Amino acid sequence: MAYKPQTWMQEKILSEKGYVPYCGNGKYCDMPRTYFDPRRMQFVCPHCGWVSKFPEECMREYAELNK
Ligand SMILES: [Zn+2]
Repeated sequence: MAYKPQTWMQEKILSEKGYVPYCGNGKYCDMPRTYFDPRRMQFVCPHCGWVSKFPEECMREYAELNK
């Protein structure tokens, strides 16, 4: 793996194939799973539109892992 995960969540998305995090909008959303948007290269919440802010390098690694 080229990218070194810097947080527990980065570690999680890069070690578990197909893993998508929950929405990060906390109490303002009923927290469905996000989906990976290959155009934005981030995770997006289908319910409230929340977009994750993972580092670009991290998401490139994720896309590579899950293609
Ligand atoms: Zn949401």
